[in-house]
Amino acid sequence: MQSGTMRAGAICGIPNDVRILSVAAPDVGPDDVIVTPKRVGLCMTNVKMARYGYYAIDQRGLPFIEGHEVAGEVVAVGRNVSEYRTGDRVVVYVYVPCHNCHFCRKGHPTMCENFILGGIYPGGWAERVKVSREDDFSRRLHKIADGISYDDAAMLEPLSCVVHSIDRAGPRLGEKVIVIGAGFMGLLHSALLARYPLDLNLSVDLSEFRLKYARRAGASHVLRNEGEDQVIEQVMEITAGYGADLVFEVTGSVQAYNLAVKLLGKGGRALFFGGTPSADPMHVNPRALHYDMLQLIGVQSAEDQHVARAMNLINTGSVGFQGLITHRFTMEQLHEAILFPQDADKREQMVKAMVHGFDSEIVAG
Ligand SMILES: [Zn+2]
Ligand SMILES: [Zn+2]
Repeated sequence: MQSGTMRAGAICGIPNDVRILSVAAPDVGPDDVIVTPKRVGLCMTNVKMARYGYYAIDQRGLPFIEGHEVAGEVVAVGRNVSEYRTGDRVVVYVYVPCHNCHFCRKGHPTMCENFILGGIYPGGWAERVKVSREDDFSRRLHKIADGISYDDAAMLEPLSCVVHSIDRAGPRLGEKVIVIGAGFMGLLHSALLARYPLDLNLSVDLSEFRLKYARRAGASHVLRNEGEDQVIEQVMEITAGYGADLVFEVTGSVQAYNLAVKLLGKGGRALFFGGTPSADPMHVNPRALHYDMLQLIGVQSAEDQHVARAMNLINTGSVGFQGLITHRFTMEQLHEAILFPQDADKREQMVKAMVHGFDSEIVAG
């Protein structure tokens, strides 16, 4: 492929200045693989980035060509590349830890200091994405099994994060578990938790619409959140007054962080998955933390092992994503896609939005 230009969606200003730019297209060097994105999941992190700014943008600067939930087709390979061929269907994993920095060496690869600047750039919002051997093919390019759709494959990054979250919380046989939030990430939690022999897999959400999906995803019970007191009362009733063993917070709101702690029984664990847009403090009763031996656990992103296992779940068709994609946009509609969930009424009706790569028609699959 000769050098030239390509189209790419970019955050050009905060808030919400998202445009299609013409940028330099990557050349294919002898150790490079070029992928044309077919599906790029719209992540709520993208929406937060465009609306509020993000540390990744501070590091990389504007315009910022993101897109980190990428499945596509290999369209060119360099002459030294034998591992991939033109026509291969792959997931491009944009952000992987360097394994070299202070935090990676301390065993916290998702705190990697080179996470963003070491990411594949431009990301999946571009017409062509280049991955080089020095980026580490085995961690960056995951082959999609025959019969698995680009739609499902593009779920690798979010699913990896949920595998990490559940690993970190470590659900045990017969526990009573609650997931607060039945948005896309909450539903993935409910779906994976349904594979464990739990005593309760309860999904709590404000929206009856989303709770329908939670039932389908595998939640054993659902509860509409009509206010903190009502949720606490209902949960105490369901748990015979003992509270939950494990609560996942998957909304990113401080109210839900507070609620998660209040739903815990003695000895309980709360896992905080949703990133909050503000740094408003949460409230924790220090006596409960101490005497009830509560564990409050954070989680962010995914490590290599979670990605490998999530890809295995996808390639074996083990997670039912069917019906979770409620909205589709073309890449030309990226601005519209970013604005869409910022409207509370529209957000209410959305589970997952998929952006189709440039020149990919809007057809499911
Ligand atoms: Zn994401
Ligand atoms: Zn690192």
